[in-house]
Amino acid sequence: MTSEKKERLVMHVDMDAFFASIEQRDHEEYRGKPLIVGGLSGRGVVSTCSYEARKFGVHSAMPMVRAQRLCPQGIFIEGNYAHYKKVSAEIFKIFARYAPVVEPLSIDEAFLDITGMELLMKSPREYAERLKREIRARTGLVASVGIAPNKFLAKLASDLEKPDGLVIITKENQQSILDPLSVGRIWGVGKKTASVLTSLHIRTIGQLRQTDRKKLTAALGAHMAEHLLALAQGIDHCAVAPREPAKSIGKEVTFPEDLKDRAEAEKVLLALAEKVGYRLRGHGLKARTIQLKLRLGNFQTYTRSRTLGEATCYDKEIYQTAVELYQGLHVRQGIRLLGISASGFDASGEISLFHEEARKENLYAAIDKIKARFGEKGITKAQLIQRPDEL
Ligand SMILES: [Mg+2]
Repeated sequence: MTSEKKERLVMHVDMDAFFASIEQRDHEEYRGKPLIVGGLSGRGVVSTCSYEARKFGVHSAMPMVRAQRLCPQGIFIEGNYAHYKKVSAEIFKIFARYAPVVEPLSIDEAFLDITGMELLMKSPREYAERLKREIRARTGLVASVGIAPNKFLAKLASDLEKPDGLVIITKENQQSILDPLSVGRIWGVGKKTASVLTSLHIRTIGQLRQTDRKKLTAALGAHMAEHLLALAQGIDHCAVAPREPAKSIGKEVTFPEDLKDRAEAEKVLLALAEKVGYRLRGHGLKARTIQLKLRLGNFQTYTRSRTLGEATCYDKEIYQTAVELYQGLHVRQGIRLLGISASGFDASGEISLFHEEARKENLYAAIDKIKARFGEKGITKAQLIQRPDEL
């Protein structure tokens, strides 16, 4: 709970029918038609559908078979998730320019903390309109936006006038907006809680707000009762927080048969070092600590780590460190598992000015380009040609 009185300003941005809208943007023949993106195999579900499909009662998470029954004239496609991710990255780049703190909720929605940014805007409405316009201009896609003093209300607001919505909830209008809404709109109210509330004749947020605390506590427990009563009054203290970044990046492999040969173990370590290096560079990270994990055939497990003088993202340095740690263990028995992980991250920042560093960066950038085109197996050092398949 925060004691400060300062008003917060939180924006929730949610792309409208994201996957389906991208497909309709890219394929003229899909426009204006009921389009359903999702798994087409027997047990597939709908990921997203166009607004034209929603008119038939199709919605996301519905089994595909049911969607086909409801909307036989629909266009059904698997979708291209790698492509959607790229579009998402473009949108998140725009978000980053509109707020210092962005909390991604999924591939197509985020909270933006715009508290204290009033100097950059005529009004919150104008700021949201500008963001919506920019998303549309750069990606051809439509977003809905909600602005409110907290996350709960902002998310609720972005959903109220979808598609192409823009709703601002303030202290003044919040109760009149909240009260008529179904209790199902509250975070954490699933089917079970909803049915308990129904049994107490509580259907709207307004009814919930006026319910006696003791009665609610008896039915749902103190924790849930407090949670619901706070949200029903529009109170939510959760901070907009960027997602916790990974604390380590690693890769390990278990062998179908114990590894007996030292040279073989070192080859595996090279392959693992390449994976870890590639991932570090992909995230723009350098790691200060390299850890080796080794499990013997009898399940005895060792971890050894070393902290380097300078953080790295290079295969060769990761490999050398791992091999030295491995050699230090003087293993005499068969190895069941080997793993390398990297932690203690520094953002790698700009390419170093030192000549040797810059040369390395260029080499690895070239390798990574090929890997990105052909998959991680697209390029590998000659030593590894006979490495185990499962790597
Ligand atoms: Mg969305």
